[in-house]
Amino acid sequence: MVQVPGARSQVVKNLTPLLKESEKHFQYPMEWFTQVKLGHNYQFSCLKCGFHPSVVIMDAHRKAAFSMPVSEIEEPPANFDGQVDVEAFWNSLRLEIIARGLVETGNPNPFAVKPSYHLWAPWIGPNTRKSGSVLNTEWEKVHSSNPNPASEVPVTEERLIDELMSLKVAAVRQLCASCGLDNKGSKMDLIMRLRSEMQNRSSYDKIFQKVWGASGGWAVVMCPCGVVNSIKVLVRAESPRDFADMLLSWKHLPNISIYDFARGLSTHANLRNPNMIPFSPHEGRLLEPNDANIAAAEEGRLKISLEWLKEKKMPADVNGHPLTGSSDHYVLSDRFHENNTKDPRDKLRKIQLVPELAGRVN
Ligand SMILES: [Zn+2]
Repeated sequence: MVQVPGARSQVVKNLTPLLKESEKHFQYPMEWFTQVKLGHNYQFSCLKCGFHPSVVIMDAHRKAAFSMPVSEIEEPPANFDGQVDVEAFWNSLRLEIIARGLVETGNPNPFAVKPSYHLWAPWIGPNTRKSGSVLNTEWEKVHSSNPNPASEVPVTEERLIDELMSLKVAAVRQLCASCGLDNKGSKMDLIMRLRSEMQNRSSYDKIFQKVWGASGGWAVVMCPCGVVNSIKVLVRAESPRDFADMLLSWKHLPNISIYDFARGLSTHANLRNPNMIPFSPHEGRLLEPNDANIAAAEEGRLKISLEWLKEKKMPADVNGHPLTGSSDHYVLSDRFHENNTKDPRDKLRKIQLVPELAGRVN
């Protein structure tokens, strides 16, 4: 586990120096994590939360994006089901690092690990994960076999729009021109033009690469104390799928998962596992989303106490979490994406509604 003290913005700051500005290449974060793996046996856990935190925070580290044309990544075999051997992958990286010290400068490393959809595994501590087989379904971002489009929530597009909004108008104009679009008009006109152009996959990739950098960076899952329990190096733009991959590979799904796109994560994970419905009750909302509850949340009259966060539930629920005894699984958020707030039912996902989370989650 990687101990990074402080709030999540601080985590990103602490990780950034690990990437040399001059060499933003995928080997850097990989190398760093492998070195961590070489040096420790991963018996660490957060003193407070152990190997199975009941509350987790999800975040993405975009500055770790690496340059690589995604078209160069080979397609996975037809029978690939998204299960990846975590030990085999991290051991292959270990070999690459060792061989790097033995191969003469200028010669190719025969153990070099190439980015791949079907071999590349997220890192999840051995005590935290369910088994040696973990999920990486990034291929589905490109080539979804799921007939239900709602399982792929287009949050990355929304985030991209946010990024475009923060660019200077000259940069947006230039982007329009490079996509062959009319580059006259106000910033809003230009962004609306780009937005409709993004419906086209290849234009989307082009705009994404220009605005975002290249790959998707890192997705991390950490406990409220700042201990990172899982990391996924993303080939494509971050989406709830990446966090679902990690959390569904855990031995014990946390009771509270905190994510900017809370609705996206619960919808995605529940559609992916219709028999299990990982996020329930109320699709991961704190209360049934009826008019009275939504109105009470809007007016600030609602407090939902989850006492098991402080004292373990006795008797524990069937399949209850080892720390809390509860089998409830909520997806909450402290800040909502503009488009997500359009759904009033998401008011029942605010962490501020839960007194036991006050002061615990920064
Ligand atoms: Zn902790």
